[in-house]
Amino acid sequence: MKTRKIIAYILTVAALLGLLAGCGKKDDQPSVPSTDGSNTATKNTESTKTTESTKATETTKATEVTEATQATEATSATEATETATTEAPCIHILGTKWTVTEKATCTNEGSRYKTCTLCGDKVAETIPMLEHEPGPWKQVKGKEATCTKEGVQYQACRQCEEIIIYINTEKKPHTPDATGKCKDCKEVLPTVPTETNKTP
Ligand SMILES: [Zn+2]
Ligand SMILES: [Zn+2]
Ligand SMILES: [Zn+2]
Repeated sequence: MKTRKIIAYILTVAALLGLLAGCGKKDDQPSVPSTDGSNTATKNTESTKTTESTKATETTKATEVTEATQATEATSATEATETATTEAPCIHILGTKWTVTEKATCTNEGSRYKTCTLCGDKVAETIPMLEHEPGPWKQVKGKEATCTKEGVQYQACRQCEEIIIYINTEKKPHTPDATGKCKDCKEVLPTVPTETNKTP
């Protein structure tokens, strides 16, 4: 029984193979060259496509691998140079001391730098401009305060002498003379003469 079954199986397989072979033979027949050619062509292109795609993936993988290795090599190289403290971009660890190359004033920005403790490079920055330093109040000539007019005074910077601010000053008090008039403006001052006039 078993042997018969096996034989039957073999026969069916053989038949199938024969059919397949027959199909192949039919395809190879020159009676239908157009369809046959196209079929084979498409098959070929498909196969080439697959091979190309696989190649592409393989190549990309390869490049990725090489890039990875390059990256690791690069990092190891930089680490090596850093430990050796030779070339390659320095991260600059600056010292604490500023060296002033140009002092800031109330008219100009200054500049100063720190030195890198690793490579010795000078890293500079600007110093912001200073505020004006107010000096004493001074009188504007020709604008002195009198007993009739307010005066004008100004305050200048001690450093650059630029005038920072002007202010009006109060009128001066009248200075009465013996006759009860102001020495400066000759105005008759009201208080003292009226009292003296009352007495007689
Ligand atoms: Zn540095
Ligand atoms: Zn100034
Ligand atoms: Zn006066």
